[in-house]
Amino acid sequence: MRARRLAARWLIPVEGPPIEHGALLIESDGRVQAVGPDSTVPRPSDVVAEDFGDAVILPGLINTHTHLELTGFEGRIRAREFPAWIRQLRELKTTRAPAEYVEAARRGLAACYAGGVTTIADTGDSGAALQVLAEAGGSGVAYLEVFGPHPAQAAESLAGLRERVKCLRGWSGNRVGIGVSPHAPYTVSGPLFRAVAAWSRAESLPLAVHMAESPAETEFLANGSGPFAEAWEARGIPLPRPSGLSPVGWLAEHGVLTELTLCIHAVQLGRADIDRLADSGAAVAHCPRSNQAHRHGAAPLAALLQAGIRVGIGTDSEVSVGRLDLLAEARAARRLAGLTADALIEICTLGGARALGLASATGSLRIGKWGDCVVIAVKKAAERRSPAELVLASSPADVLLTCLGGRDVYRAL
Ligand SMILES: [Zn+2]
Repeated sequence: MRARRLAARWLIPVEGPPIEHGALLIESDGRVQAVGPDSTVPRPSDVVAEDFGDAVILPGLINTHTHLELTGFEGRIRAREFPAWIRQLRELKTTRAPAEYVEAARRGLAACYAGGVTTIADTGDSGAALQVLAEAGGSGVAYLEVFGPHPAQAAESLAGLRERVKCLRGWSGNRVGIGVSPHAPYTVSGPLFRAVAAWSRAESLPLAVHMAESPAETEFLANGSGPFAEAWEARGIPLPRPSGLSPVGWLAEHGVLTELTLCIHAVQLGRADIDRLADSGAAVAHCPRSNQAHRHGAAPLAALLQAGIRVGIGTDSEVSVGRLDLLAEARAARRLAGLTADALIEICTLGGARALGLASATGSLRIGKWGDCVVIAVKKAAERRSPAELVLASSPADVLLTCLGGRDVYRAL
Protein backbone atom coordinates (compact mmCIF):
# COMPACT_ATOMS: atom_id res chain seq x y z
CA MET A 1 0.00 0.00 0.00
CA ARG A 2 1.15 3.57 -0.70
CA ALA A 3 1.08 6.28 1.97
CA ARG A 4 -1.89 8.64 1.60
CA ARG A 5 -3.27 11.88 2.93
CA LEU A 6 -6.98 12.60 3.44
CA ALA A 7 -8.49 16.00 4.24
CA ALA A 8 -12.03 17.34 4.72
CA ARG A 9 -14.01 20.20 6.19
CA TRP A 10 -14.29 18.24 9.45
CA LEU A 11 -12.31 15.48 11.13
CA ILE A 12 -13.54 13.72 14.28
CA PRO A 13 -10.58 11.95 15.90
CA VAL A 14 -12.87 10.76 18.78
CA GLU A 15 -9.99 11.03 21.25
CA GLY A 16 -9.97 14.83 21.28
CA PRO A 17 -12.40 17.44 19.95
CA PRO A 18 -13.52 17.69 16.28
CA ILE A 19 -11.08 19.53 14.02
CA GLU A 20 -12.34 22.02 11.43
CA HIS A 21 -10.39 21.63 8.18
CA GLY A 22 -8.69 18.46 9.41
CA ALA A 23 -6.32 16.03 7.74
CA LEU A 24 -4.97 12.55 8.24
CA LEU A 25 -1.70 11.05 7.00
CA ILE A 26 -1.56 7.26 6.77
CA GLU A 27 1.82 5.57 6.31
CA SER A 28 2.47 2.79 3.83
CA ASP A 29 2.28 0.34 6.75
CA GLY A 30 -1.40 1.28 7.18
CA ARG A 31 -0.90 3.19 10.44
CA VAL A 32 -1.83 6.77 11.25
CA GLN A 33 1.31 8.90 11.07
CA ALA A 34 -0.20 12.35 11.63
CA VAL A 35 -3.63 13.78 12.38
CA GLY A 36 -4.72 17.34 13.09
CA PRO A 37 -5.55 20.67 11.41
CA ASP A 38 -4.83 20.57 7.69
CA SER A 39 -2.12 23.22 8.05
CA THR A 40 -0.14 21.10 10.53
CA VAL A 41 -0.28 17.68 8.87
CA PRO A 42 2.75 17.09 6.59
CA ARG A 43 2.25 16.96 2.80
CA PRO A 44 5.09 14.75 1.51
CA SER A 45 5.37 15.30 -2.23
CA ASP A 46 5.28 11.58 -3.03
CA VAL A 47 2.07 10.94 -1.08
CA VAL A 48 -1.34 10.75 -2.78
CA ALA A 49 -3.52 13.49 -1.30
CA GLU A 50 -7.31 13.75 -1.48
CA ASP A 51 -9.50 16.57 -0.21
CA PHE A 52 -13.14 15.62 0.26
CA GLY A 53 -14.43 19.15 0.78
CA ASP A 54 -17.76 19.30 2.65
CA ALA A 55 -17.39 15.98 4.38
CA VAL A 56 -16.50 14.49 7.75
CA ILE A 57 -13.63 12.07 8.31
CA LEU A 58 -14.08 9.87 11.36
CA PRO A 59 -12.77 6.51 12.61
CA GLY A 60 -14.27 3.49 10.88
CA LEU A 61 -17.47 2.36 12.60
CA ILE A 62 -17.44 -0.81 14.68
CA ASN A 63 -20.37 -3.21 14.52
CA THR A 64 -20.16 -5.27 17.71
CA HIS A 65 -22.85 -7.75 16.74
CA THR A 66 -24.07 -9.17 13.47
CA HIS A 67 -24.55 -12.47 11.64
CA LEU A 68 -23.00 -12.05 8.18
CA GLU A 69 -23.92 -15.60 7.12
CA LEU A 70 -27.63 -14.68 7.36
CA THR A 71 -27.31 -12.02 4.66
CA GLY A 72 -30.11 -12.48 2.12
CA PHE A 73 -32.62 -13.87 4.63
CA GLU A 74 -34.25 -10.46 5.14
CA GLY A 75 -38.04 -10.70 5.20
CA ARG A 76 -38.01 -14.52 5.17
CA ILE A 77 -39.42 -15.08 8.67
CA ARG A 78 -43.06 -14.37 9.39
CA ALA A 79 -43.35 -15.34 13.08
CA ARG A 80 -43.88 -12.46 15.48
CA GLU A 81 -43.41 -14.27 18.79
CA PHE A 82 -39.72 -14.70 19.59
CA PRO A 83 -39.59 -18.48 20.36
CA ALA A 84 -41.41 -19.21 17.06
CA TRP A 85 -39.11 -16.74 15.25
CA ILE A 86 -36.05 -18.58 16.59
CA ARG A 87 -37.53 -21.93 15.47
CA GLN A 88 -38.22 -20.63 11.95
CA LEU A 89 -34.70 -19.21 11.72
CA ARG A 90 -33.30 -22.62 12.66
CA GLU A 91 -35.36 -24.21 9.86
CA LEU A 92 -34.40 -21.50 7.36
CA LYS A 93 -30.69 -22.06 8.06
CA THR A 94 -30.96 -25.70 6.95
CA THR A 95 -31.84 -24.54 3.42
CA ARG A 96 -28.35 -23.23 2.62
CA ALA A 97 -25.23 -25.16 1.60
CA PRO A 98 -21.83 -24.20 3.09
CA ALA A 99 -20.70 -22.41 -0.09
CA GLU A 100 -23.89 -20.34 -0.04
CA TYR A 101 -23.08 -19.22 3.51
CA VAL A 102 -19.66 -18.04 2.37
CA GLU A 103 -21.24 -16.15 -0.53
CA ALA A 104 -23.82 -14.58 1.80
CA ALA A 105 -21.14 -13.52 4.30
CA ARG A 106 -19.15 -11.96 1.45
CA ARG A 107 -22.14 -9.85 0.42
CA GLY A 108 -22.75 -8.94 4.07
CA LEU A 109 -19.15 -7.79 4.52
CA ALA A 110 -19.34 -5.65 1.38
CA ALA A 111 -22.52 -4.01 2.74
CA CYS A 112 -20.77 -3.31 6.07
CA TYR A 113 -17.89 -1.59 4.26
CA ALA A 114 -20.35 0.42 2.15
CA GLY A 115 -21.96 1.63 5.38
CA GLY A 116 -18.67 2.85 6.86
CA VAL A 117 -18.05 -0.12 9.16
CA THR A 118 -14.42 -1.32 9.34
CA THR A 119 -14.44 -3.79 12.27
CA ILE A 120 -17.06 -6.48 12.78
CA ALA A 121 -17.89 -8.85 15.60
CA ASP A 122 -19.82 -11.69 14.02
CA THR A 123 -21.52 -14.74 15.44
CA GLY A 124 -22.40 -17.70 13.27
CA ASP A 125 -22.12 -21.45 13.15
CA SER A 126 -20.88 -21.98 9.58
CA GLY A 127 -17.44 -20.38 9.99
CA ALA A 128 -18.18 -18.39 6.81
CA ALA A 129 -17.64 -14.97 8.41
CA LEU A 130 -14.20 -15.98 9.68
CA GLN A 131 -13.15 -17.17 6.23
CA VAL A 132 -14.56 -14.10 4.49
CA LEU A 133 -12.97 -11.65 6.95
CA ALA A 134 -9.62 -13.40 6.60
CA GLU A 135 -9.75 -13.52 2.79
CA ALA A 136 -10.62 -9.82 2.67
CA GLY A 137 -7.79 -8.89 5.05
CA GLY A 138 -10.53 -7.59 7.34
CA SER A 139 -10.72 -6.67 11.00
CA GLY A 140 -12.90 -8.23 13.67
CA VAL A 141 -13.79 -11.23 15.75
CA ALA A 142 -15.74 -14.23 14.44
CA TYR A 143 -17.44 -16.10 17.27
CA LEU A 144 -18.27 -19.71 16.36
CA GLU A 145 -21.69 -20.65 17.63
CA VAL A 146 -22.48 -23.81 19.52
CA PHE A 147 -25.97 -25.10 20.31
CA GLY A 148 -27.11 -27.99 22.52
CA PRO A 149 -30.13 -27.77 24.81
CA HIS A 150 -30.05 -31.40 25.99
CA PRO A 151 -27.68 -31.76 28.97
CA ALA A 152 -26.67 -35.21 27.73
CA GLN A 153 -25.29 -33.57 24.53
CA ALA A 154 -22.86 -31.30 26.39
CA ALA A 155 -19.66 -33.35 26.04
CA GLU A 156 -20.34 -34.10 22.37
CA SER A 157 -21.20 -30.46 21.57
CA LEU A 158 -18.04 -29.22 23.27
CA ALA A 159 -15.94 -31.77 21.39
CA GLY A 160 -17.55 -30.65 18.13
CA LEU A 161 -16.83 -27.00 18.92
CA ARG A 162 -13.21 -27.73 19.79
CA GLU A 163 -12.79 -29.57 16.51
CA ARG A 164 -14.33 -26.70 14.51
CA VAL A 165 -12.11 -24.16 16.26
CA LYS A 166 -9.08 -26.34 15.51
CA CYS A 167 -10.03 -26.62 11.82
CA LEU A 168 -10.88 -22.95 11.36
CA ARG A 169 -8.12 -21.43 13.46
CA GLY A 170 -5.90 -21.17 10.41
CA TRP A 171 -8.16 -18.38 9.13
CA SER A 172 -7.48 -16.25 12.22
CA GLY A 173 -4.42 -14.06 12.57
CA ASN A 174 -3.46 -10.56 11.49
CA ARG A 175 -6.54 -8.51 12.42
CA VAL A 176 -9.07 -11.35 12.54
CA GLY A 177 -9.72 -13.13 15.82
CA ILE A 178 -11.64 -16.31 16.53
CA GLY A 179 -13.98 -16.72 19.49
CA VAL A 180 -16.79 -18.98 20.64
CA SER A 181 -20.48 -18.34 21.19
CA PRO A 182 -22.66 -20.64 23.23
CA HIS A 183 -25.75 -19.22 21.54
CA ALA A 184 -28.24 -18.40 24.31
CA PRO A 185 -29.66 -19.80 27.57
CA TYR A 186 -32.70 -21.15 25.70
CA THR A 187 -30.63 -23.11 23.12
CA VAL A 188 -27.70 -24.26 25.29
CA SER A 189 -27.88 -26.40 28.45
CA GLY A 190 -26.32 -25.36 31.75
CA PRO A 191 -23.65 -28.10 31.54
CA LEU A 192 -22.68 -27.02 28.01
CA PHE A 193 -22.42 -23.36 29.09
CA ARG A 194 -20.19 -24.39 31.98
CA ALA A 195 -17.98 -26.57 29.76
CA VAL A 196 -17.59 -24.01 26.94
CA ALA A 197 -16.89 -21.21 29.42
CA ALA A 198 -14.19 -23.24 31.21
CA TRP A 199 -12.54 -24.36 27.97
CA SER A 200 -12.59 -20.92 26.32
CA ARG A 201 -11.12 -19.39 29.48
CA ALA A 202 -8.29 -21.94 29.45
CA GLU A 203 -7.66 -21.12 25.75
CA SER A 204 -8.06 -17.33 26.28
CA LEU A 205 -10.70 -17.29 23.55
CA PRO A 206 -13.25 -14.48 23.57
CA LEU A 207 -16.85 -15.57 24.16
CA ALA A 208 -20.10 -13.96 22.98
CA VAL A 209 -23.56 -14.87 24.22
CA HIS A 210 -27.08 -13.68 23.37
CA MET A 211 -28.43 -12.97 26.84
CA ALA A 212 -31.15 -11.23 28.85
CA GLU A 213 -32.87 -10.59 25.53
CA SER A 214 -36.56 -11.50 25.95
CA PRO A 215 -38.90 -11.68 28.97
CA ALA A 216 -39.51 -15.30 27.88
CA GLU A 217 -35.82 -16.10 28.55
CA THR A 218 -36.04 -14.60 32.03
CA GLU A 219 -39.14 -16.67 32.80
CA PHE A 220 -37.51 -19.81 31.44
CA LEU A 221 -34.42 -19.52 33.64
CA ALA A 222 -36.11 -18.26 36.79
CA ASN A 223 -39.22 -20.46 36.81
CA GLY A 224 -38.63 -23.15 34.18
CA SER A 225 -41.85 -22.11 32.46
CA GLY A 226 -43.14 -20.15 29.47
CA PRO A 227 -42.82 -20.60 25.70
CA PHE A 228 -39.18 -21.78 25.73
CA ALA A 229 -40.02 -24.42 28.36
CA GLU A 230 -42.95 -25.58 26.22
CA ALA A 231 -40.69 -25.79 23.15
CA TRP A 232 -38.11 -27.88 25.04
CA GLU A 233 -40.79 -30.19 26.42
CA ALA A 234 -42.23 -30.69 22.94
CA ARG A 235 -38.75 -31.80 21.78
CA GLY A 236 -38.34 -34.14 24.77
CA ILE A 237 -35.55 -32.08 26.30
CA PRO A 238 -35.38 -32.10 30.12
CA LEU A 239 -35.98 -28.64 31.56
CA PRO A 240 -33.42 -26.91 33.76
CA ARG A 241 -34.48 -26.70 37.39
CA PRO A 242 -36.20 -23.36 38.17
CA SER A 243 -33.24 -21.31 39.40
CA GLY A 244 -34.95 -18.19 40.69
CA LEU A 245 -32.05 -16.37 39.01
CA SER A 246 -32.00 -13.61 36.40
CA PRO A 247 -30.16 -14.36 33.12
CA VAL A 248 -27.09 -12.45 34.42
CA GLY A 249 -27.18 -14.37 37.70
CA TRP A 250 -27.64 -17.68 35.91
CA LEU A 251 -24.77 -17.07 33.45
CA ALA A 252 -22.50 -15.87 36.27
CA GLU A 253 -23.27 -19.14 38.16
CA HIS A 254 -22.10 -21.03 35.08
CA GLY A 255 -18.80 -19.15 34.88
CA VAL A 256 -19.71 -17.37 31.65
CA LEU A 257 -19.13 -13.71 32.59
CA THR A 258 -15.49 -12.55 32.38
CA GLU A 259 -13.50 -9.72 30.76
CA LEU A 260 -13.42 -11.79 27.57
CA THR A 261 -17.23 -12.03 27.41
CA LEU A 262 -19.42 -10.01 25.07
CA CYS A 263 -23.04 -9.90 26.26
CA ILE A 264 -25.33 -9.46 23.24
CA HIS A 265 -28.61 -7.55 23.83
CA ALA A 266 -28.57 -7.32 27.68
CA VAL A 267 -32.09 -5.89 27.88
CA GLN A 268 -33.73 -7.63 30.86
CA LEU A 269 -31.51 -6.27 33.63
CA GLY A 270 -32.19 -5.07 37.16
CA ARG A 271 -29.89 -2.86 39.23
CA ALA A 272 -28.15 -5.88 40.79
CA ASP A 273 -27.55 -7.35 37.32
CA ILE A 274 -25.90 -4.16 36.09
CA ASP A 275 -23.61 -4.11 39.15
CA ARG A 276 -22.78 -7.77 38.62
CA LEU A 277 -22.00 -7.22 34.94
CA ALA A 278 -19.76 -4.27 35.84
CA ASP A 279 -17.92 -6.35 38.46
CA SER A 280 -17.37 -9.18 35.98
CA GLY A 281 -15.68 -6.89 33.45
CA ALA A 282 -17.87 -8.26 30.65
CA ALA A 283 -18.79 -5.98 27.74
CA VAL A 284 -22.18 -5.37 26.10
CA ALA A 285 -23.23 -5.28 22.44
CA HIS A 286 -26.29 -3.05 22.47
CA CYS A 287 -28.67 -3.73 19.55
CA PRO A 288 -31.48 -1.18 19.89
CA ARG A 289 -33.34 -1.73 16.61
CA SER A 290 -33.32 -5.52 16.94
CA ASN A 291 -34.61 -5.25 20.52
CA GLN A 292 -37.35 -2.97 19.24
CA ALA A 293 -38.23 -5.15 16.24
CA HIS A 294 -38.68 -8.20 18.47
CA ARG A 295 -40.50 -6.13 21.10
CA HIS A 296 -38.04 -7.13 23.83
CA GLY A 297 -38.17 -3.74 25.51
CA ALA A 298 -35.56 -1.05 26.09
CA ALA A 299 -32.08 -1.90 27.37
CA PRO A 300 -30.91 0.31 30.27
CA LEU A 301 -28.17 1.85 28.12
CA ALA A 302 -27.57 4.95 30.26
CA ALA A 303 -27.22 2.85 33.43
CA LEU A 304 -24.81 0.43 31.70
CA LEU A 305 -22.60 3.32 30.65
CA GLN A 306 -22.79 4.97 34.06
CA ALA A 307 -21.69 1.69 35.65
CA GLY A 308 -18.52 1.85 33.52
CA ILE A 309 -19.42 -1.20 31.43
CA ARG A 310 -17.77 -1.31 27.98
CA VAL A 311 -20.64 -0.88 25.53
CA GLY A 312 -20.59 -1.05 21.74
CA ILE A 313 -23.41 -0.86 19.22
CA GLY A 314 -24.52 -3.84 17.13
CA THR A 315 -26.98 -4.16 14.30
CA ASP A 316 -27.83 -7.85 14.77
CA SER A 317 -28.72 -9.61 11.51
CA GLU A 318 -30.69 -8.28 8.57
CA VAL A 319 -33.34 -10.92 9.40
CA SER A 320 -34.10 -8.81 12.49
CA VAL A 321 -33.52 -5.26 11.25
CA GLY A 322 -33.37 -5.23 7.45
CA ARG A 323 -30.50 -3.27 5.96
CA LEU A 324 -27.58 -2.94 8.40
CA ASP A 325 -27.04 0.71 9.36
CA LEU A 326 -24.94 1.42 12.41
CA LEU A 327 -25.82 5.12 12.47
CA ALA A 328 -29.53 4.25 12.47
CA GLU A 329 -28.72 2.14 15.54
CA ALA A 330 -27.00 5.14 17.09
CA ARG A 331 -30.10 7.27 16.51
CA ALA A 332 -32.22 4.57 18.16
CA ALA A 333 -29.78 4.44 21.09
CA ARG A 334 -30.06 8.21 21.42
CA ARG A 335 -33.83 7.97 21.83
CA LEU A 336 -33.29 5.42 24.60
CA ALA A 337 -30.54 7.04 26.59
CA GLY A 338 -30.58 10.73 25.69
CA LEU A 339 -26.87 10.78 24.81
CA THR A 340 -25.07 13.61 23.02
CA ALA A 341 -24.10 13.21 19.38
CA ASP A 342 -20.41 13.13 20.40
CA ALA A 343 -21.08 10.33 22.90
CA LEU A 344 -22.95 8.34 20.26
CA ILE A 345 -20.12 8.65 17.73
CA GLU A 346 -17.74 7.50 20.46
CA ILE A 347 -19.88 4.42 21.25
CA CYS A 348 -19.98 3.51 17.54
CA THR A 349 -16.18 3.72 17.25
CA LEU A 350 -13.93 3.69 20.33
CA GLY A 351 -16.67 2.20 22.52
CA GLY A 352 -17.01 -0.74 20.15
CA ALA A 353 -13.23 -1.17 20.02
CA ARG A 354 -13.08 -1.24 23.82
CA ALA A 355 -15.93 -3.75 24.00
CA LEU A 356 -13.97 -6.07 21.68
CA GLY A 357 -10.60 -5.48 23.37
CA LEU A 358 -9.24 -3.75 20.24
CA ALA A 359 -8.92 -0.17 21.50
CA SER A 360 -5.13 -0.11 21.25
CA ALA A 361 -5.41 -0.86 17.52
CA THR A 362 -8.51 0.95 16.26
CA GLY A 363 -11.59 3.00 17.23
CA SER A 364 -10.01 6.46 17.08
CA LEU A 365 -7.74 8.42 14.77
CA ARG A 366 -4.56 8.55 16.80
CA ILE A 367 -0.92 8.28 15.77
CA GLY A 368 0.16 4.64 15.71
CA LYS A 369 -3.33 3.13 15.42
CA TRP A 370 -4.55 1.57 12.17
CA GLY A 371 -5.70 4.00 9.51
CA ASP A 372 -9.33 2.83 9.74
CA CYS A 373 -11.63 5.66 8.71
CA VAL A 374 -14.78 6.60 6.91
CA VAL A 375 -15.49 9.77 4.91
CA ILE A 376 -19.12 10.91 4.98
CA ALA A 377 -20.57 13.61 2.73
CA VAL A 378 -22.63 16.27 4.51
CA LYS A 379 -24.91 18.95 3.18
CA LYS A 380 -23.64 22.51 3.08
CA ALA A 381 -26.96 23.85 4.32
CA ALA A 382 -26.52 22.04 7.61
CA GLU A 383 -23.18 23.66 8.40
CA ARG A 384 -24.26 25.15 11.69
CA ARG A 385 -24.76 21.73 13.22
CA SER A 386 -21.82 20.03 14.94
CA PRO A 387 -19.90 17.48 12.83
CA ALA A 388 -21.13 14.66 15.09
CA GLU A 389 -24.74 15.76 14.44
CA LEU A 390 -24.04 15.85 10.70
CA VAL A 391 -22.69 12.31 10.82
CA LEU A 392 -25.67 11.08 12.84
CA ALA A 393 -28.04 12.57 10.30
CA SER A 394 -26.36 10.71 7.44
CA SER A 395 -27.20 7.38 5.85
CA PRO A 396 -25.07 4.66 4.22
CA ALA A 397 -25.75 6.42 0.88
CA ASP A 398 -23.64 9.37 2.11
CA VAL A 399 -20.50 7.29 2.65
CA LEU A 400 -17.84 8.41 0.15
CA LEU A 401 -14.94 6.22 1.24
CA THR A 402 -14.18 3.51 3.78
CA CYS A 403 -10.53 2.75 4.56
CA LEU A 404 -9.22 -0.20 6.51
CA GLY A 405 -5.58 0.14 7.51
CA GLY A 406 -5.30 2.86 4.88
CA ARG A 407 -6.62 0.58 2.12
CA ASP A 408 -9.87 1.39 0.26
CA VAL A 409 -12.50 -1.22 1.10
CA TYR A 410 -15.36 0.89 -0.30
CA ARG A 411 -15.47 3.92 -2.54
CA ALA A 412 -18.67 5.56 -3.83
CA LEU A 413 -18.72 5.85 -7.59
ZN1 LIG B 1 -27.80 -11.99 17.21
